[in-house]
Amino acid sequence: MAAGNTLQNYIDNEWLAPDNSEYLDVMNPATTDVLAKVPLSPAAEVDIAAQAAASALNDWRHTPPTERIQYLFKLKQLLEENLDDISRTITMECGKTLLEAKGEMRRAIENVEVACGIPTMMQGTNLEDIASGIDEFMIRQPVGVCAAIAPFNFPGMITFWFLPYAIACGNTYIVKPSEKVPITMQKVFRLLEQTGLPKGVVNLVNGAADTVNAIIDHPIIRAISFVGATPTAKYVYARATANGKRAQCQGGAKNPILVLPDADEGEVIHAVGESAFGCAGQRCLAASLVVTVGGAKGWFSKSIADAAASRPVGYGLEEGVEMGPVITGESKTRIEGLIQQGADEGAEVLVDGRHPLISGFESGNFVRPTVLQNLNPDGGIASTEIFGPVLGLIHADTVDDAIRLINSGKYGNMACLFTSSGAAARKFRYEAQIGNIGINVGVAAPMAFFPFSGWKESFFGDLHGQAGDAVDFFTQKKVVVERWF
Ligand code: NAD
Repeated sequence: MAAGNTLQNYIDNEWLAPDNSEYLDVMNPATTDVLAKVPLSPAAEVDIAAQAAASALNDWRHTPPTERIQYLFKLKQLLEENLDDISRTITMECGKTLLEAKGEMRRAIENVEVACGIPTMMQGTNLEDIASGIDEFMIRQPVGVCAAIAPFNFPGMITFWFLPYAIACGNTYIVKPSEKVPITMQKVFRLLEQTGLPKGVVNLVNGAADTVNAIIDHPIIRAISFVGATPTAKYVYARATANGKRAQCQGGAKNPILVLPDADEGEVIHAVGESAFGCAGQRCLAASLVVTVGGAKGWFSKSIADAAASRPVGYGLEEGVEMGPVITGESKTRIEGLIQQGADEGAEVLVDGRHPLISGFESGNFVRPTVLQNLNPDGGIASTEIFGPVLGLIHADTVDDAIRLINSGKYGNMACLFTSSGAAARKFRYEAQIGNIGINVGVAAPMAFFPFSGWKESFFGDLHGQAGDAVDFFTQKKVVVERWF
């Protein structure tokens, strides 16, 4: 755990400071106060973690799944008991509101609960008498030492798309959190420590790009789960698979929401406002574009502008705040630059959230909700992931035009439709080239018992995080043909 405010790694059930490490400041994005210093672990530290995980593998693999999940039951209980504390940490280092942070941890816990079903989920198949007196069956065995590399925007939840399934399936594990938000995982690992998991089963290694490279190049590590921006996801996927590893790499997004004239105005405005501006737009399932169809344009733009302008912005630990800051000063500058680019490309800045003054938090990384109307569909902003509280509005004459528009995008993480027409909804979910679909839902985040299903440039690999896909990812199948004389 932290010595003073200097964070440590957790390897072989010990908290250690890596040798020869540089350190980076971890900042509260609302105040820009330094919260801690995080080590940028060198390759030698990754090697120590990989060796520890490899040493633990044999005994852990031989531990029956029914026993392995007892640690997860304990972890669930500990997470429940510490939900408030961990959520406050998420707000302090990531900026989202306390309510959003609690929602994130709820989904983390849900993944632990689902992974407790491993004795059923890990079962194979069998067929007696494939020929007379010969039986054939398929069993699942763990892959080995596996690792997760996480982004900044969900400091708690994302590791849980992978870790509970990985260890329940008999693998040993290494987690590399985002260097921007590493404190949450320190707390989570403190709880993992309290479960009494054997030495080396779960390991925490802090760092940034060099640490990631050491993980994806390490010969002992057999599988990589990555979540982050598309260029990084593509790079990690290419390098990890070239090194012969399994990889599942989730990338960025540009999520459209179609609004038809027959949609319920109040519901749409609430849901789109939450989707676009919740978590300050730093969510891979955030609405980023709204395509109004036909007569929806008339009522939608005014109402969403009102909702954007009136959203309470501030420090996420304060009562009544509905949107916090973006993660870094660099992000704020980038987002404000992209708003200008949208205006330069011909959009009307209907609500301008640049350079806000948040009383008491003048040095924080705040951008208020912003709405760009009549976005140029051929401009760069219509296809660029902004990852901030910026919503672009585009108009289409028909549902077919709107679906064509969204299918022309390079990402495929989420698309939603608001309508009261079942036929339009069916057409949309059937034709949209997107992995997560919402019908009258603004953030179509799959529950833990479904895979998190991004397509196209939002995902590189075959098997997604969570549930059955995770079990397939963290096990290798073995087929046995058996005859007894
Ligand atoms: P990021 O790609 O900058 O960082 C993600 C991880 O990769 C971090 O652990 C970081 O240390 C590491 N990393 C960064 N640059 C690297 C490099 N050059 N080489 C090796 N490793 C590197 O992403 P971020 O800014 O932390 O997160 C935001 C992005 O994540 C957004 O694009 C968002 O859409 C995406 N995201 C996607 C999903 C999804 O499910 N598809 C979920 C959450 C976030």
